[in-house]
Amino acid sequence: MAPGVARDAADGRDQPPRLPTSRFALSARPVLALDLGGTQVRAAVILPDGSRVARIATETPKAKGPDAVVDACVEALRMSRARAPRNLAGAIAGVGVSSPGPIDPWRGVIIEPPNLGPEFHDIPIAAPLEAALGLPTYLERDTNVAALAEQSFGAARECPDFLYMTVSTGIGGAIVSGGQLLYGPDATAGELGHVPVNLDGPVCGCGGIAHLEAFAAGAGLARFAREAVEAGTSHFLAHRAAENGIDALGAHDVADGEDAGDAVCMALMGQARTAFSVACAGYVNIFNPRLIVVGGTIADKQGDRLLGPARDYVARYSLKTPRRRVQIVPAELGADVSLAGAQPLVSMRLGEGQWRAGRADVTAAVSA
Ligand SMILES: [Zn+2]
Repeated sequence: MAPGVARDAADGRDQPPRLPTSRFALSARPVLALDLGGTQVRAAVILPDGSRVARIATETPKAKGPDAVVDACVEALRMSRARAPRNLAGAIAGVGVSSPGPIDPWRGVIIEPPNLGPEFHDIPIAAPLEAALGLPTYLERDTNVAALAEQSFGAARECPDFLYMTVSTGIGGAIVSGGQLLYGPDATAGELGHVPVNLDGPVCGCGGIAHLEAFAAGAGLARFAREAVEAGTSHFLAHRAAENGIDALGAHDVADGEDAGDAVCMALMGQARTAFSVACAGYVNIFNPRLIVVGGTIADKQGDRLLGPARDYVARYSLKTPRRRVQIVPAELGADVSLAGAQPLVSMRLGEGQWRAGRADVTAAVSA
C-alpha cells in the first residue's frame, strides 16, 4: 500500500490520501445573503452555522428593467441588515449573491440569465451592491452556491468530491472536485442538465439537441404534455388541460397521470427517469464523484422514484471502480439552499484578489 493511503475498514478498498474537504475555513462572522431569482429576491443574514435570520422575500420587478431589479436587491439587503440584531449586523463580513447563470464571478456581472427579462444582459451586480452596502460582495451561479451550502451544512458535509444537481423547471448542476468548485475559463462548467442523452430528440431550451433537461425537467415534461393533448393521445392530460388551460400543464400533471395509470404519462415519466439515469452513469465515469446530491422541486417530490432507478443504472453500467464508491442522495437544505451558501461563498473569497477584478477593496467595518 502506498504511503498515505489508508484502507477502508468497511469494504477493503484503498482510500486516497485525505484531502481537505474544502480549501477554506468558514468565517466566524455572519454574512449577508442575496438570492436573485426570476420570481423572488430573497435576502437574509447567515450565521456561521448556516442558519438564517432577518429573512426578506420580495417579488422580482423584472418587468421594470434591470435598474429596478438591482435596486430591489439593494433594498432587500438593507432591510435584512436593519432587521438583524445589532451585534450581528455590525459583524457582517461581506455579501454573497446567488443568481441564475451565466454569470462572470470574477467581475461580478450577470451575463444573460434566461428568466430575468429581455433587457437583462451584462448587468454588474457586485459593484453596485458594494457601493450601496459598504461590504465586499461576491457573485456566483445559484447552483454553485447551493453546492457550497450542501458541502458546508447539508448532504455533502466533509465531502471533497461530489456533484450537485437540481431537477426543477430546468436542470442545473455544480461540480466539486478535490475540495474545489470547477469553473472553466467562462465559469459555465457544471451545467449538468445540458448533456445529450440521445442522438436526436427534442430541442432543449438552450438550443441543444436531446439534452437531459429537455427530457426530465419541468419545462420539458410540460412540453411533452401539451404535445400529447394536441395529438389526442392522453385522456388524463386532456382532462387537466380542459380544467386549467393547456399552458398550465406541468410536470406535476404528468406525475399525477402516471399514478392514475395513464399510459402516455407513464411513458413520459419513465423516459425522464431513464434520461436522468443515463446522465448519472456518464457523470460517474467522467468525474468519479463520491456523491451525487440531487435537489429541486421534482427531485424532492419524486424522491427514490427518481434516485432509485439512477442508482440501479449506475450500478450496472458505470465503470466498475467509480460505481462502487458513488452514492446518489437527496439534497438536505431545501428552498433556502442558495441563501445558506452565501456563508461559504464569502468565506472562500474574502481577501482573494482574483474575485475582485480590479474593484477597489472594501473592508467590512466590525463594530461588534
Ligand atoms: Zn440544453
